[in-house]
Amino acid sequence: MKSGVVIVGAGHAGVQAAASLREEGYDGPVILVGDENELPYHKPPLSKTFIKDAEAKPQPLRGEAFYSGNAIDFRPGVWIDRIDIGARRLDVSGGGAIAFERLVLATGSRPRLLKLYGGELAGVVSLRSLADARLIRELSAQSEDVVILGGGFIGLEIAATLRAAGRKVTVVEALERLLGRAVAPAIAAHVRQRLEAIGVRVLTGITIARLDGEGGRVSAAITSGGERLPAQMVVIGIGVVPNVELAEAAGIAVGNGIRVDQHMQSSIPEILAVGDAASYRHWFTGGDVRLESVQNATDQARLAARTILGHAEPYSAVPWFWSDIGDMKLQMVGLTQGGDSHVVLGEPAENKFSIYHYAGNRLLGIESINRPADHMLGRKMLGAGFSPTPQTVAAGPDALKAALAAFRTMEPAKAGA
Ligand code: FAD
Repeated sequence: MKSGVVIVGAGHAGVQAAASLREEGYDGPVILVGDENELPYHKPPLSKTFIKDAEAKPQPLRGEAFYSGNAIDFRPGVWIDRIDIGARRLDVSGGGAIAFERLVLATGSRPRLLKLYGGELAGVVSLRSLADARLIRELSAQSEDVVILGGGFIGLEIAATLRAAGRKVTVVEALERLLGRAVAPAIAAHVRQRLEAIGVRVLTGITIARLDGEGGRVSAAITSGGERLPAQMVVIGIGVVPNVELAEAAGIAVGNGIRVDQHMQSSIPEILAVGDAASYRHWFTGGDVRLESVQNATDQARLAARTILGHAEPYSAVPWFWSDIGDMKLQMVGLTQGGDSHVVLGEPAENKFSIYHYAGNRLLGIESINRPADHMLGRKMLGAGFSPTPQTVAAGPDALKAALAAFRTMEPAKAGA
């Protein structure tokens, strides 16, 4: 029997790879294995809604019938231990093997561990999977005080969600500002102010020295300055590390992620990698990146399927991301690092504004809070390769739309010139 394509990891990227193979007309066997014992589900709602609502159900990425209806052999609860590249075979934990012709590694990432005295106490958790979210929901129901270590997107989403559910929440961030270098200082400051306005306590430039417990369950986090923060639950949200070990042990090149080329092929061309686990040279910045977003996972998976089918197209999707933190829909398009000037549209005081980041005269990206139309237009502009001048941005959305339309009429002529 033909061995076909095997996909390891049944998250956003793995499921999309399987779906795209079929959409693109691949008619060989497709096997999708994932270690979780769940129908693959959307991760973003876990931190935004699921953990505060006892009745909330996971949102499947695809209905159960999708897998059988598309002849996708979905195998949940299966952990892959080893890749035997020479034999084109995967070893399954607990015994058994799966042969492959082409392999897609969609192994994702996992929460970064924090070595902390007291870190093994019950009630100390992190959020990546549905199982983690169920545990947080259960622990939250028994907690009055929650401490969140890490002021990144997931930590802040959890902070706002649990605050809305009535918990007393403290966020402790080691750096001097929230959201690291992921967003402009003005966005980070705005997010902090809105969180504080709903009663979240935000401590920056502070680390946790240890966790105290009572009867085996965490009871407090003690700051390096000696302050005791009561906590019946501590959520550690200090970022993720890519799951590269499977690839690395097989001799596939890895760096900060499984290294792939513009077609998603690893150093062994029959083996591709996509999503949170993959790192690549970005067409927009020229630097090496590993992006953690639904957009990146699904677009790379689509491209990997096309590579397998023999279409050698380079990855050139415009990166975008969103996060819902309390009453803020934060959306980002492009990659904004390395900018040297910016233009602001809208009003921070109204909780609605966008920051357009420039390097010289080149628009790098846009960060928006509650201005979804700016974000959508930004995706169109960057997708078309159009960089409006800062003056056009300052003239407002109508001027931008007109400039984009004019660019689109000019572009075919330029391309033909
Ligand atoms: P994953 O979804 O992590 O899937 C990888 C799967 O592979 C996992 O199930 C893993 O257990 C499995 N696996 C790994 N190794 C093996 C093995 N050896 N054998 C078998 N199975 C294996 N992104 C956004 O753009 N917007 C958001 O608002 C947003 N919110 C988020 C909220 C939360 C709580 C989380 C956790 C993430 C959020 N993200 C968000 C990020 C987004 O979910 C990830 O970028 C996306 O899930 C990456 O998809 P992936 O398929 O690469 O990895």
